[in-house]
Amino acid sequence: MSETVQTASPSVSSELQLAEVVNLLGLSPKKMRAFFESIGEKPFRAQQALQWIHQYGESDFSKWTNMSKSLRLKLAQVAAIDYPEVIYQDFSKDGTRKWVMRMKGGSSVETVFIPDGDRGTLCVSSQIGCALDCSFCSTGKQGFNRDLSAAEIIGQVYIAAKSFDKPGEKRERRVTNVVMMGMGEPLLNFENVVDSMELMMDDFSYGLSKRRVTLSTSGVVPALYDLAEVSDVSLAISLHAPNDALRNDLVPLNRKYPIAELLKACQHYLSSLDDRRKITIEYTLMQGVNDQLSHADELAKVLRDLPCKINLIPFNPFPHSGYDRPSNNQVRRFQNRLIEAGYTVTVRTTRGEDIDAACGQLVGQVEDRTRRQARYKAKQESNATQ
Ligand code: SF4
Repeated sequence: MSETVQTASPSVSSELQLAEVVNLLGLSPKKMRAFFESIGEKPFRAQQALQWIHQYGESDFSKWTNMSKSLRLKLAQVAAIDYPEVIYQDFSKDGTRKWVMRMKGGSSVETVFIPDGDRGTLCVSSQIGCALDCSFCSTGKQGFNRDLSAAEIIGQVYIAAKSFDKPGEKRERRVTNVVMMGMGEPLLNFENVVDSMELMMDDFSYGLSKRRVTLSTSGVVPALYDLAEVSDVSLAISLHAPNDALRNDLVPLNRKYPIAELLKACQHYLSSLDDRRKITIEYTLMQGVNDQLSHADELAKVLRDLPCKINLIPFNPFPHSGYDRPSNNQVRRFQNRLIEAGYTVTVRTTRGEDIDAACGQLVGQVEDRTRRQARYKAKQESNATQ
């Protein structure tokens, strides 16, 4: 973590007016060019800076040797590379890694790396906590503190990529995929998430293809239309229920943006892409809640017009969640029913369970501004005494 304390704000020009030191870490390629122009330098310097930061993980300006000494000195005065502080990391016996990263203000978020053959998927957080309070989600029970800045979002990728570096050796690309599926609802932190995803896909930064960067949303419908205007990343929808009555209980945001509206926005997003892509439907299976074959039939019906594949996630229990994981047989029955209806259906394997890094288990340390955490603790205590 650098000694500098300024974070990047959405616009470089306002940042320069407000702060003497600009954090270059979260600047999208466009904002990086604007930054170099604003200090009287040629825009091509942006590419060099992006490479030093994101491809070499070099935060010391004095080592940016393809820039003149005077420019390096200038950068040291007006800029910094300020990334989150890793306060804890853990390694699962299955190869999964988890980092707890402290952000400004003291709260922390969790980031998880899941290796699978040649593929290495990083699950990144977009907010500290989450305001949406899905009934089955441990992050939701933590309440909400604030949005992460673009530097704090891409900082998670920066730290993960750097963690595999070996001194004197060329960096190997271990992070091959990024999913915005950690803490928070990415579409409620739109600009910072879009800037970070641009960096993930930029050739001078992480160079991931648009198919390897996935934004997962619980369905902020207006923001989905906005996303179609500015991005072409892969999309995952946290659906979890085949009808509005059930989804209203599981994902309260559904009361505002019901399933039909959400699926219409998904169709629109797909129609804005120039290739034949599918949306991933995430469906957490909870025993006796949404795991019956009648639910599978209903789901098959509701999704029939959407090019999609379905990812089933057997629920990962956490204390006092009130939900259970269905049996493997039930999961298989549910999966087969959807396959018979013509869908591609995968079942997510639980990874990193021994280090609490499995899907739905990310909690971090959230200084809650919603008082939800206090209400949840009170409920836990009253359940324990009953
Ligand atoms: S499932 Fe996602 S949107 Fe819902 S509370 Fe958890 S983090 Fe927020």
